[in-house]
Amino acid sequence: MTFDYDLFVIGAGSGGVRASRIASSLGARVAVAEEYRVGGTCVIRGCVPKKLMVYASHFAEDFELARGFGWSVGETSFDWKTFIARKDAEIDRLNGLYIKTLEGAGVEIIDGRATVTGPNSVRVGEREITAKTILVATGGWPHMPDVPGIEHAISSNEAFHLEEQPEHIVVVGGGYIAVEFAGIFHGMGSNVSLLYRSEQILRGFDDDLRDRLNTEMRRKGIDVRTDTNITKIEKLERGVRLTLTDGSTMDADAVMYATGRVPNTKGLGLESSGVALGKGGAIKVDKYSKTNVDSIYAVGDVTDRVALTPVAIKEGHAFALTVFGGTPMAAEHDAIPTAVFSQPPIGTVGLSEADAKEKYGDVTVYTSDFKPMKHTIGGSDERAFAKLIVDKASDRVVGAHMIGADAAEIIQGIGIAVKAGLTKAQFDATVAVHPSSAEEFVLMRTPRAD
Ligand code: FAD
Ligand code: NDP
Repeated sequence: MTFDYDLFVIGAGSGGVRASRIASSLGARVAVAEEYRVGGTCVIRGCVPKKLMVYASHFAEDFELARGFGWSVGETSFDWKTFIARKDAEIDRLNGLYIKTLEGAGVEIIDGRATVTGPNSVRVGEREITAKTILVATGGWPHMPDVPGIEHAISSNEAFHLEEQPEHIVVVGGGYIAVEFAGIFHGMGSNVSLLYRSEQILRGFDDDLRDRLNTEMRRKGIDVRTDTNITKIEKLERGVRLTLTDGSTMDADAVMYATGRVPNTKGLGLESSGVALGKGGAIKVDKYSKTNVDSIYAVGDVTDRVALTPVAIKEGHAFALTVFGGTPMAAEHDAIPTAVFSQPPIGTVGLSEADAKEKYGDVTVYTSDFKPMKHTIGGSDERAFAKLIVDKASDRVVGAHMIGADAAEIIQGIGIAVKAGLTKAQFDATVAVHPSSAEEFVLMRTPRAD
């Protein structure tokens, strides 16, 4: 049988773009369908605009630090509309770049929503298209819990395009997006309340980081409330009234839910081919990203393995090499370094102390609690913290964690060492970069007394 394409990709986000480009470079005839904007969540309404917002919001503190270093800083003000316009222009530029890259690689871009109609066929609008292989890379979508009045709440999608900066915003959730946006809005000058339903934010991260971020956020003036949720949302003439689990009410200009993301499989037609779904509608795949149907693969957030852009990219790349390059390659999911762009930021790789104890039993923990040099005469009370977790039996560093300025930049390098399985002795043998915060990772000599 002849097909219209060797590969049809649904979704031009992080995973889909990489897979399309690599498959095309290996000689495959490739088309990719995109229903919104080429670039996907990360470029259009995720990592990139978020990071620009983090930069924008950090200046408030930087101006304060500058005074400590002898600068006279005049009156400062932040203009939301100016920033949003500049951010949007940058996203347009990147969107154009992604389109150009795909076209340059010989990939055909088809605008529109695609649905699967069989193991080798998809439909976009009126067009029925056949392909030898189909790759589903449709990402995820914000999960909005079933709370009365939830239609008055926004998600991260809308947070990037608010007409006006909210004077008071309530952020619900305690994961990556909640803590990042709490810091963003606070830095830009909004009053921020962060409501988290359980006892401590950032479940799954090392407990020391969770406690310290909570403390730092409160110290900066964010109203962090744990064991708190919303039972009802009412629309006011201006803003919303929230009823909280303790029965009290809170008025705000906006309420933003950052309560997780669900895989984008609804209405995708996967049942037409019998593609098996798992928890929350995620597509089940093997280590080569193949579904239970031989001709259909899936990568990225829609598979709900690790929902990070570099992971989706690696999975997309590995898929293309496996199917079109003749070199089977499985994307690895261990020791993935990750950063939370909270304020202060977090960088982490490997296991938390609790998980390491569960896996290895006997571990040695090294910690360093310090004030970054910039904050000394800068006059900030913000502290930093680094932690290494070492498997006693092998001396291997199995977890490295940091909270403090530049943690995201620092953890990338440490990630190489942890992924390579280096030992604490090898960390110790590494010469420090001085003066830096990063050097703490090679200078921690005394195990924590437990
Ligand atoms: P996506 O990038 O979501 O791409 C899926 C694409 O498919 C979308 O463009 C969508 O429009 C399209 N699509 C869906 N259904 C169809 C259909 N039926 N037909 C045609 N097209 C369709 N990760 C990080 O690593 N670092 C960060 O700092 C970071 N920050 C984030 C901040 C926010 C606010 C959010 C929401 C996410 C963030 N992430 C971050 C996560 C990251 O964006 C995702 O892990 C990544 O984008 C997943 O890539 P993907 O290819 O699986 O899907
Ligand atoms: P997360 O899964 O990280 O966090 C979701 C949060 O919402 C958790 O604190 C969860 O609580 C809480 N929650 C879930 N359901 C409810 C509910 N019904 N009511 C109240 N609270 C609820 O999801 P995010 O939305 O923050 O982000 C999605 C994913 O995107 C991240 O996991 C990450 O993989 C990726 N991302 C990565 C970033 C980065 O790399 N810097 C930045 C942003 C996103 P509980 O802990 O109790 O379950």
